[in-house]
Amino acid sequence: MRDAIEREEAHIAANYAPLPLVVATGEGAWVTDIEGKRYLDCLAAYSAVNFGHSHPLLLDAARAQLARVTLTSRAFHNDQLGPFVTALAALAGKDMVLPMNTGAEAVESGIKVARAWGYRVKGVAADRATIIVADGNFHGRTISIVSFSDDPDARADFGPFTPGFRSVPYGDAAALEAAIDENTVAVLLEPIQGEAGILVPPADYLPAVRDITTRHNVLFIADEIQSGLGRTGATFQCDNAGVVPDLYLLGKALGGGIVPVSAVVGNRDVLGVLQPGQHGSTFGGNPLAAAVGRAVVELLATGDYQARARMLGERMHARLGALVGRGVVGVRGVGLWAGIDIDPSLATGRAVCELLMERGVLAKDTHGATIRLAPPIVVSEPDLDWAIDQLEAVLADLRA
Ligand SMILES: *Cc1c(COP(=O)(O)O)cnc(C)c1O
Repeated sequence: MRDAIEREEAHIAANYAPLPLVVATGEGAWVTDIEGKRYLDCLAAYSAVNFGHSHPLLLDAARAQLARVTLTSRAFHNDQLGPFVTALAALAGKDMVLPMNTGAEAVESGIKVARAWGYRVKGVAADRATIIVADGNFHGRTISIVSFSDDPDARADFGPFTPGFRSVPYGDAAALEAAIDENTVAVLLEPIQGEAGILVPPADYLPAVRDITTRHNVLFIADEIQSGLGRTGATFQCDNAGVVPDLYLLGKALGGGIVPVSAVVGNRDVLGVLQPGQHGSTFGGNPLAAAVGRAVVELLATGDYQARARMLGERMHARLGALVGRGVVGVRGVGLWAGIDIDPSLATGRAVCELLMERGVLAKDTHGATIRLAPPIVVSEPDLDWAIDQLEAVLADLRA
């Protein structure tokens, strides 16, 4: 193991601090390292692997398309793109899809669309558009996106930054409304803040944001890149909150853990502002991505994964709640997604993740004392119970 890690570290830019295991294969909720040890994957690539590793239907879709054609660029039509955007629009209840690749690209694209909508439809004065975001946000790593981050590590030495953003406290609808002026084109929010530690806003927050943005003729852009596509027991966390945003930003699980696929999904009155030549991507909408993305949408269209995440999530949250006061100081989350605050006098989140790894459970810490659990939705009930048993055992050892 050490050799393989050293070989990688000799030549890889050190922008991550991975746990010391080297994965060789994955199937369902499990991965196996190069020495044959198995681990239950409770990170699922930050929810990009919602449907599990090597899902047979997704692999079939990818294999079939690999043998046909994989990249055309959008200079030509390809026969996979139409069926994909039709299916995704129907899943989201919208009528237009802008296909991209990574999550950050979907966010950048949403920002560009909102600005163009502001100037061309709302009538905002040239170059004056502002977008309201929330403190503690995570929307990706490009210069414009880190321009409105408040994470010092994400920003230090990467300036100068892109202007045009205003940040307000997350969960505070009054502060959001007060920040709106005649130049505001959009509000960009995560319905649940994932990287911040699975922060769930008050139940009336997203409905209030919907109401405020509608009254002020401001777009509501929901970044569902991590919260969407089954994780929270619904197709979108906005469904759980009973709201419909103007634009959904999707990514991560949309590629089935096989290829990067992201999208901006909305209606023609907004996404229709884009004209040929104004935005693009060489790989966006490629036939391989479209074939896999359509297979993902077909899995979600059954509702089975959303129902399973809901059912397993109730089980997981009931058990995690019982750990409060026994090494855990707080638990949050919706569906099969939990942020667990470890008692900081016991250990750091990282130390807990290392101990979990020794016991065969992979999880990831965030912001020092928090660990998150987000296993693939295909995880079995006994495996999920076993993972929580391991967390319980790690905490018991630390408290002993
Ligand atoms: C991961 C994530 C992104 C960025 O996605 P990448 O594919 O890493 O660029 C954006 N928004 C949210 C909410 C995310 O969780």
